[in-house]
Amino acid sequence: MTAAQGTPLRVGRGADPAGARGFARRFWHSTVRWFDSWTPDERDASDPRGVDWLRVSPFIVIHLACLAVFVVGWSPFALAFAAAFYVVRMFAITAFYHRYFSHRAFRTSRAAQFCFALLGATATQRGPLWWAAHHRAHHRHSDGEGDVHSPERQGFWYSHVGWILARGNFRTRTELVPDWMRFPELRFLDRFDALVPLATMAAIWGLGALLARVAPGLGTDGPQLFVWGYAVSTVVLYHLTFSINSVAHRVGSRSFDTPDESRNNWLLALLTLGEGWHNNHHRYQASARQGFRAREVDLSYLALRAMQAVGIVRHLRPVPERVLREGRRS
Ligand SMILES: [Zn+2]
Ligand SMILES: [Zn+2]
Repeated sequence: MTAAQGTPLRVGRGADPAGARGFARRFWHSTVRWFDSWTPDERDASDPRGVDWLRVSPFIVIHLACLAVFVVGWSPFALAFAAAFYVVRMFAITAFYHRYFSHRAFRTSRAAQFCFALLGATATQRGPLWWAAHHRAHHRHSDGEGDVHSPERQGFWYSHVGWILARGNFRTRTELVPDWMRFPELRFLDRFDALVPLATMAAIWGLGALLARVAPGLGTDGPQLFVWGYAVSTVVLYHLTFSINSVAHRVGSRSFDTPDESRNNWLLALLTLGEGWHNNHHRYQASARQGFRAREVDLSYLALRAMQAVGIVRHLRPVPERVLREGRRS
């Protein structure tokens, strides 16, 4: 266990000067990093478990914004929009950020690749390179020393959400994604990773305001559609995505005797469009498919098959027969 993993999550000030000047400097630096996430900070390495509360405050504000449902009310349209936007973005996370950018489980054109990255970025889970690099680190050290999020080693809540707040995991580990670093458009999206979420928020608020004028019968408006369609939808998306790192390494069954604690969990698989077949995935991470048996429903894989049929993606990587046989024996 490294020193970083052995100490509790804490708020750290690093080696910054004290007093008003030091505070002003830290304030400015954290604010800059909202917009240019590649701005280095020496405290990321010196205080890896520390939390820069100012920098993570948008993440906290999105959670608090959900409480505004008691102010803005609700409408069937706002709820339907929130649910649909959840499904679209969960698909973008599992099919694109995870299966494509992290594991290269299928191929596509450069233009489609950019669109996949854009859609994934609306989930507000940082840029595609940050996401893929941290996920590759997870597979490299699954539940072992160096795993970024392991409930076995660091406790349930750290593996669920603490690791995202920790300074040490803020930097995009570009050394783990050399294959994607050669695309300037992906580097741009990753570096300025607040742009797409901000544009998404503005578009949803704008759509609500427009509908209040042109279709008042829907009973929605800018604030209401923003709170349901962006805040609530994004927070649910956060915690179901994070559950794969926490719950799916604790609760469920194991078809394969992998060296980690990964589990297959049918309920999570349903809610996350296939990600819950996490023990399967740890056994063979290169395949586009995570539900290995007919009864293991993997909605994202079905959608990817449809996208392959119309030519948007190609070469979906299969699960080798020997791996399937291994799973059937267990
Ligand atoms: Zn895992
Ligand atoms: Zn994976």
